Amino acid sequence: MKSVAYGVQNATSPVAPMSIDRREPGHHDVLIDILYCGICHSDIHQARNEWGGSSLYPMVPGHEIVGRVSQIGSHATKFKVGQLVGVGCMVDSCRHCEACHDGVEQYCDDSVFTYNAKDPKHGGLTFGGYAERITVDENYVVNVPENLDTKAVAPLLCAGITLYSPLKHWNVQPGQKVGIIGLGGLGHMGVKLAAAMGAKVVMITTSASKAVDAERLGASEVLISKNADDMAKHAASFDLIIDTVPVAHDLNPYIALLKRDKTLVLVGPLDPLEMHGANLITKRRHVAGSMIGGIAETQEMLDFCGKHNIVSDVEMIDAQYINDAYERMLKSDVKYRFVVDIASLKQ
Ligand code: ZN
Ligand code: ZN
Repeated sequence: MKSVAYGVQNATSPVAPMSIDRREPGHHDVLIDILYCGICHSDIHQARNEWGGSSLYPMVPGHEIVGRVSQIGSHATKFKVGQLVGVGCMVDSCRHCEACHDGVEQYCDDSVFTYNAKDPKHGGLTFGGYAERITVDENYVVNVPENLDTKAVAPLLCAGITLYSPLKHWNVQPGQKVGIIGLGGLGHMGVKLAAAMGAKVVMITTSASKAVDAERLGASEVLISKNADDMAKHAASFDLIIDTVPVAHDLNPYIALLKRDKTLVLVGPLDPLEMHGANLITKRRHVAGSMIGGIAETQEMLDFCGKHNIVSDVEMIDAQYINDAYERMLKSDVKYRFVVDIASLKQ
């Protein structure tokens, strides 16, 4: 099935129109007409081959996909034609390892990413959501609540689940004090989700200009990390901190904010990490990592968002603007996620 897409031919080419082939739906597949696709920072890194030479070309980025089912395979039972659905960062996994068995397919060694991956079952490469349609095994598709603003749902499929999963894994409870470091695409979802879980959310940022927005999103307080006196006042008071800052920085001032036995969770791959052992030892603190979420947990997150009316704050763009959007994202000039209107692909 020839399909219109936007993608890159190599590490230095701009995002431009291309034609890709989508497979006809197999027995367990659904074909999805894509409505919207969010732009994740990892799209830029992969399009430009900035992750250790791991990029495969041609590449169609995009793993924050919302669309409607247009066709179902003969044995597919989970979705109906016309149903609003989402696809996130994965389109398959091995289905028999411990991670798959435990519903954390994102940690399966053989999980298949939505784009920039070899497709072991169908051959060729996987292509992402900057495209008019996608064929996906129904087990890696999630239902999207109809009551939400559909275009603003797209970023939940990566940014949303990336924050929801650690909030659940570390069992955030009403009244607990949760810190979110960094107010961007990830951080703004963390504030909304943690607040909806009943936590007292503190936005931890270097920039005082973020305060008004953080409070609008649900933060009850803003802590300016450059202010040593304020940081000292919050020492050893947090139940959980999630660090969304994507570039290397000193973790020690943030670790000192944790109560005994509590955890600082990294959701971005920071290198190098420098930590003072004493900062961990004296209060048995933890530093941990977390990557997106499993399929069942992604569904749980979308249901939670449907119930609490949570979506991402988005700026809608046409596909022709993706290159400009990338440049603006590198300057953090977006509140807080670009979403591509896929109808614009056919213009
Ligand atoms: Zn992403
Ligand atoms: Zn597996």
